[in-house]
Amino acid sequence: MVNVEFTRLRHAYESGRTRPLAWRRAQLDALRRLVTDNRDAFASAAMADLGKPAAETILMELNLVASEAKFVRNRLGLWAARHPKAMHWMLQPAVGWTIAEPKGVVLIISPWNYSVLLALEPMADALAAGNAICLKPSELSPNTSRLIAELVPQYLDPEAVRVVEGGPKETGELLKCQFNHIFYTGGGHVGKIVMRAAAKHLTPVTLELGGKSPCFVDHTVDINVAARRIAWGKFTNAGQTCVAPDYVLATPDVAEALAERIAVSITEFYGEDPKASPDFGRIINDRHFERLCKLLPVGTVPPEEPSSPLVQVASAVGAAMDMVGRRFNVVAAGRGSAGETAGGGAGSANNAAKPAAGSNTAAADSDATASAAVEPSEIHKVPGVFDPAGRIICGGKVDRAARYIAPTVLYGTSPDAPVMKEEIFGPILPILVVEDAESAIRFINKRSRPLAAYVFSRDHEVRLTFERQTSSGALGYSLPLGHLLSSRLPFGGVGDSGIGAYRGKEGFLTFSHVKTVVTKPQFPDTLRLVYPPFNEAKAKL
Ligand code: NAD
Repeated sequence: MVNVEFTRLRHAYESGRTRPLAWRRAQLDALRRLVTDNRDAFASAAMADLGKPAAETILMELNLVASEAKFVRNRLGLWAARHPKAMHWMLQPAVGWTIAEPKGVVLIISPWNYSVLLALEPMADALAAGNAICLKPSELSPNTSRLIAELVPQYLDPEAVRVVEGGPKETGELLKCQFNHIFYTGGGHVGKIVMRAAAKHLTPVTLELGGKSPCFVDHTVDINVAARRIAWGKFTNAGQTCVAPDYVLATPDVAEALAERIAVSITEFYGEDPKASPDFGRIINDRHFERLCKLLPVGTVPPEEPSSPLVQVASAVGAAMDMVGRRFNVVAAGRGSAGETAGGGAGSANNAAKPAAGSNTAAADSDATASAAVEPSEIHKVPGVFDPAGRIICGGKVDRAARYIAPTVLYGTSPDAPVMKEEIFGPILPILVVEDAESAIRFINKRSRPLAAYVFSRDHEVRLTFERQTSSGALGYSLPLGHLLSSRLPFGGVGDSGIGAYRGKEGFLTFSHVKTVVTKPQFPDTLRLVYPPFNEAKAKL
């Protein structure tokens, strides 16, 4: 089956149908129509997969696909044209140029967290470059995957763009085929599987991976603005964003106040009960839900009970009711509850400072001491915080049936806590107290290079030091996620967070081979200057 799809794509590419600029422009126009005509269907699919609010799907996915398609469509003529290059004087008269040619048949493997954006945005770049494309969406977002598989043949050239649905088995089959480029977005573990498979055919890869993106904050910033932006960057899509701030490193003069202000921002965004908010999403599946629960302070979440068929039915009903309740809230919010939201925000300021019940219970003083031994000079131990995960400033509530984890802020987290050992990829924000910018940079540089780093400081020297002394896929001053939103900025990781980049011209080049072409007239044959036999005069040329 997979082989049939691949062979069909190979024939389509070799027929030359994908090369004309007119075909590419028509496909990109169709891709724009695909996302704009089907906004509601995509919003419902993302709601069913991830509990994602419709506005988030439209703003952070559909609009970005449409604007990328338009951006590359309007420039591909220039990018695909011949670019003349000067030739060495010894070869004169001669002319050289470069020309971007399509790589051929490319494979795009996409993840579940932004299941439309991360499938269709690289597709826009691959279409602009004139490739035949096989797209493999994530099986973990089945509603979006199905919708894409239905719509793509209705809008795009079905001979040259195919969607193969499925999980690891189908992806494994695809990886046996000799593609001309593989573009993978997801975790590093599967990234290595992809790269190993690609190595068999010497196929080039782009790997868009993840990691723990740090966020440094010092006292020079406006703490309210910093708190709001960090809360937005972190809790959008319930924290399941590859470039979300994973953890905060804050200086002692600002750390606790920042934690409390982030809690206030959470209430402003999602109300007193984020579970009832139509704007706050859910965790993708049970495996990720259980993984995240283990990152909270010990005792916060009761252990999972072995589930009987009856409990499983009850839990499915619970999830359905949760979804219906939140949809009802969308309607209620649409009728205007701005006053309530503002009131909730103000009221939460006091609540925010109170540790949630159940936190700090499992005192792990010895662990905390051990952590101090690991990072003695960089991370401050906060008095009165006993659990390595930190003290819960807000959140900590979960609902297994609904796969809901409240937006949670942890303060005084230790570097050896489980929450600091893996990419969180969920709505839990640990705040670590760090002496100063230099300590924060040392802390970051001891770890894998992140996909993004964020710096909230108005001190120019501090900003420059981060820019020069840390390496990350992107760096944002006072702005998490912002670099996602422009086709003019390449997007990609470095080291463990990825190989290669895409979007705009960078994306066009990722899916192109830039071929060098040279030509020299046969007469007169001035190349005889460099032919043997050599003599002293030629050696001095
Ligand atoms: P996922 O589980 O959806 O997997 C990604 C793709 O790999 C899917 O299409 C899946 O079918 C395929 N896959 C899974 N197991 C496989 C296997 N054994 N063999 C072959 N293919 C397999 O997504 P995920 O890995 O859970 O995604 C989360 C990670 O992705 C996080 O680390 C996140 O930071 C990262 N991410 C990065 C970006 C980026 O742009 N750099 C964007 C989103 C997510």
